[in-house]
Amino acid sequence: MDYAKPSEYMKNNIVDLANDPIFCVGLKGDVLYANNAFVQVTGYTREEILNRPYSCFTSLTGSQFQQLRQAILFNEAIEPTYLFVLGKDNRQVSAQAQFSPLKDGNGQMLGLSIILRQVSTYERLTSRAEDLLETAPDAMIIVNNQGQIVLANAQTEVLFGYNRSELLGREIEVLIPDEFLKNHKKYRDSYIGTPKTRAMGQGQELLGKKKDGSTFPVEISLSPLQVDGGLTFISAAIRDIAYRQRAENKFKELLDSAPDAMVIVNESGLIELINTQAENVFGYSKSELQGQAIEVLIPARFAKKHPKHRSTFFTNPKLRPMGANLELLGLRKNGEEFPVEISLSPLETEEGMLVSAAIRDITERKKYDKALQAFNAQLQNKNKELEQFAYIASHDLQEPLRTIKGFSNLLESEFGNSLDGTAKKGLRFISEATDRMELLIKGLLDYSRIGQNRNTTSVDCNKVLDDVKKDLSSLIQQTETILKSDQLPDVEGNETELRLLLQNLITNGIKFRKEEGSPKIVISASEKENNWTFSVQDNGIGIEAEYKERIFIIFQRLHERQKYEGTGIGLAHCQKIVELHGGKIWVESTLGVGSTFYFSIPKAEMTNKWN
Ligand code: ADP
Repeated sequence: MDYAKPSEYMKNNIVDLANDPIFCVGLKGDVLYANNAFVQVTGYTREEILNRPYSCFTSLTGSQFQQLRQAILFNEAIEPTYLFVLGKDNRQVSAQAQFSPLKDGNGQMLGLSIILRQVSTYERLTSRAEDLLETAPDAMIIVNNQGQIVLANAQTEVLFGYNRSELLGREIEVLIPDEFLKNHKKYRDSYIGTPKTRAMGQGQELLGKKKDGSTFPVEISLSPLQVDGGLTFISAAIRDIAYRQRAENKFKELLDSAPDAMVIVNESGLIELINTQAENVFGYSKSELQGQAIEVLIPARFAKKHPKHRSTFFTNPKLRPMGANLELLGLRKNGEEFPVEISLSPLETEEGMLVSAAIRDITERKKYDKALQAFNAQLQNKNKELEQFAYIASHDLQEPLRTIKGFSNLLESEFGNSLDGTAKKGLRFISEATDRMELLIKGLLDYSRIGQNRNTTSVDCNKVLDDVKKDLSSLIQQTETILKSDQLPDVEGNETELRLLLQNLITNGIKFRKEEGSPKIVISASEKENNWTFSVQDNGIGIEAEYKERIFIIFQRLHERQKYEGTGIGLAHCQKIVELHGGKIWVESTLGVGSTFYFSIPKAEMTNKWN
């Protein structure tokens, strides 16, 4: 190729003297022409430049050159690109290159002419990234390796209160509060030494400083920015986290207001957050626990299996109690184990799924339960002892009583005729008293027997009432009692006891009738949420309010024996029977008008719960 020719075409042109560097590259890649400005910018002589490959003077790569040549040959438009002019002594100059085809007078393609426009680095950066940066939600700042701000986006102005022009060229430290300044330059240098994308000051609370001197919490992400020639800049994305911190603080306050110890764990089982109650319960400070595996709070023998349970929860996270039916134990810092109740619930967060565990120290409750159980057992024993005592006492009393009765009968039959009036009267008193004592003893025996070896079935109360009516038929007739009843329910209970209960209440209703008029007794039952409440209403003499509770105590009577006979055991029986069924008995009454005795019998499913 005759290189002189193209030179000639260009030479007399103004091109030689143009301010912008211009050079031509042949189709093979050799420099065919360089104008004065190009010679100057490279620092080489023209002779050193001509006929040497383009790669000695530009940062254009082989494939870039191929593409350019292709485009020229196919007459395609070529967009300007940025490149570096590589000069003598490793000199690099950033430039925007415009390419156009170089043809001879006959229109034959000789190569490319390249016009360079030197641009400052700042221009280069902005042209590339400006749009992107301007719209970024974070403040974006780019600094050079001297720490000078070379670019700041719109959000930086908003966040820090400076105009961009006030920031450009200034050291980044202008945006950093004084207390961080001491170390910042050191950190900056070490970052430039080993630049990689990472969050800044991990685990530390970072602050930014506004123009007015006020500070605000920030989160900063750093990344190195390589520009074509290998120059390194640092870009910092700065986010104002005041709002997030407020939300976090609210959340922490909320956690602290919970009555239970709360521990929040991530999917790897590491503790992210605990509340004050957790500090108190486990004896660790927040900072001691944060980042630790949750297993530090679990006795070693359970801790092994725990990670498996934990991952099971994460595969199906929902609110539930932990280890249902299991005795769960927690481990305090001082090594002490204590019983806990734990409820788990998933917590979806930006950082992924977390689990919050509400942990309740139930040491006190367990103690209380134990005490209650012991007390109950004691009470049951005492009750048994009492029943046995009553049984044995009444049983043993019968023997001497029979002897007294036998001998007084003998006295009467053998010596009755020879006894005088006073002696006869004495014998009659003895006989009456023994009869009465026999009744009392029998009542006591019956009372102590109630509840022994009892079984319960479903009992039809209508049938029970019919039986009672039959048993009392002569009394009902004699006293002209009107006995009415509603439809009664089936209840879960002991039939014999229920019969005795109704019988006692009805007999009392008849017995404590007014002198005039015939007794009227109404029996009914109403359904309540948990029980059936029965009532036995009479129109008798009524009971004074002050005696409404006393009458249920054994042997307590309100009337003289002569007026109303009885032993004072009937209502005590009734109360024991109702309580054995898990219910209550009480009376409402108006003196001179009548009384209504109520008793409740729990519904079947409730009885099962209690048994
Ligand atoms: P008793 O009937 O053998 O005297 P109870 O234990 O059945 O013993 O009753 C205790 C007391 O309660 C009775 O003596 C009576 O004073 C009072 N009482 C019981 N039922 C009625 C009633 N329906 N009307 C008025 N008083 C009653």
